[in-house]
Amino acid sequence: MKKVVIIGGGLGGLSAAITLAHAGFHVELFEKNSHFGGKLMPVQLGEYNFDFGPNTITMPYVFQQVIEQTGERADHYFDMVKLPTHTQNIFTDGTHLNFSSNQQYMIEQLETLDPIGARNYPAFIKEISRLFDLSERHFLPKTFQSWRDYASPTLGAAMLQVRPWQSLHKFFASYFTNSNMIDSYNRYATYIGSSPFQAPATFAMIAYLEMVEGVYYVKGGNSKIAEAFTTLARKLGVRLHPETAVKKILVTHKKATGVELHNGERIDADYVIMNADLLKAYPELVSEDERPSFSNKKVQQFEPSISAFVILAGVKKRFSQLKHHNVFFSENYQQEFSDLFTHQSYSHQPTIYVSNSSYTDPARSPSGDNLFILVNAPALLQNGDMQVDSTSYKNHIYQMLSSHGLDIQEHLEVEKTFTPIDISEKFGAYRGALYGLSANRKIDAFLRSRNRSRDIHNLFFVGGSTHPGGGSPMVTLSGQNVAKLIILLEK
Ligand SMILES: Cc1cc2nc3c(=O)[nH]c(=O)nc-3n(C[C@H](O)[C@H](O)[C@H](O)COP(=O)(O)OP(=O)(O)OC[C@H]3O[C@@H](n4cnc5c(N)ncnc54)[C@H](O)[C@@H]3O)c2cc1C
Repeated sequence: MKKVVIIGGGLGGLSAAITLAHAGFHVELFEKNSHFGGKLMPVQLGEYNFDFGPNTITMPYVFQQVIEQTGERADHYFDMVKLPTHTQNIFTDGTHLNFSSNQQYMIEQLETLDPIGARNYPAFIKEISRLFDLSERHFLPKTFQSWRDYASPTLGAAMLQVRPWQSLHKFFASYFTNSNMIDSYNRYATYIGSSPFQAPATFAMIAYLEMVEGVYYVKGGNSKIAEAFTTLARKLGVRLHPETAVKKILVTHKKATGVELHNGERIDADYVIMNADLLKAYPELVSEDERPSFSNKKVQQFEPSISAFVILAGVKKRFSQLKHHNVFFSENYQQEFSDLFTHQSYSHQPTIYVSNSSYTDPARSPSGDNLFILVNAPALLQNGDMQVDSTSYKNHIYQMLSSHGLDIQEHLEVEKTFTPIDISEKFGAYRGALYGLSANRKIDAFLRSRNRSRDIHNLFFVGGSTHPGGGSPMVTLSGQNVAKLIILLEK
């Protein structure tokens, strides 16, 4: 049977490894870190347990399917629970708006906040369902291999039906009139690392995922998904190598023939799949003359998605005002996007996301809350610098939260900060971007990098910088899509 080498053990690499091993391929996966799962990383600080990376899980069936395709039961590996009120949105004027997939509950809240929005809610749900249905049929299960795939008439027709020319903000503002309500929805643009004033309305399908299908949490921590994929991959015979960085992709006569590791060892392969961030790893692992259609100049033209400034804080207290997911909105959300994308600067009045998984799962931190605090940050500058002092910015975030009654510093037990520089170094993420490319330019939203190298035969790409995009379910799909393509090529 043919041999596949995978570079990087993020969710994309692991899902490809499982699918290929189940089909009988010999699979070897090399990961530079000591853990598998990439950005979905467990962090333990004393008796406080955190998920770094994906705290919000949607499309549970995508993860379950990776396991179930092998004949095993997903519930033997992890227990996913749906959160009833998944996100509490909190505004400076004192408004609280709870997001839930219970449509009646949403309409009841809207009746006082936004009566027009309440009336429009059923039509809104119908339209976001239509957008998701089209994406699910025409974009998500596909691999984009050559220009022919992009030029397909069915795809072209589908693209025109998903509101490509309207911005997300305009779309939401056509259903709701209350600015807090619109801001709560606009925040979905940040899930693809983009601005709601630029990203196309197509991405209102994210609202479908949360407001119709719901938000999930994995008992014991979302990183149980990565743990499950790792256990299953091993069981299927995948040879997993932690702490083993790949230095080079070996190319002979325009064909990938294997990889060279940092210790100089060479591993032969019939196919190479790169899960490491395309924008960072491709230029590092393949010399520029072997990839004429992906020159270093071209890489610099891509706009990276936003990054994040993250604080993990374990406190000796349970804050009664917090739910599982909480968003403390800034007074001027539009200004924040302008700071991030137009000026590439840190916002002085940022919107602050606080995930407190101990609300659902107290065993994660028995003596108090395990707070994952995230503020959107601009991608690193081209020279790798970030523009704030991390200690002052952290203290500023704590001060802002204390004005909402969260006196975190007073009750702090353990703490760890992750800056965009840490994200870039730990995961090899291009300029610290969370989701690969931004979707601000329509062209990047629809025509993300293809899943197959144009220049090198048998070299494939999975993960956040490639089709269908960033976010844990999408990268998992990209791994499966590419694996299925390789299986098809061998038939
Ligand atoms: C702070 C934060 C919050 C997020 N929140 C959410 C969320 O709530 N919901 C959601 O769905 N998504 C979220 N995401 C995004 C999500 O984590 C990513 O889209 C997804 O996990 C990326 O998976 P991936 O397969 O692209 O690979 P990655 O996770 O990027 O993994 C790539 C792997 O390749 C390895 N690697 C790189 N170079 C080499 C090399 N030369 N040799 C060997 N290995 C190498 C890296 O170490 C890494 O482990 C968040 C991300 C972050 C950072």
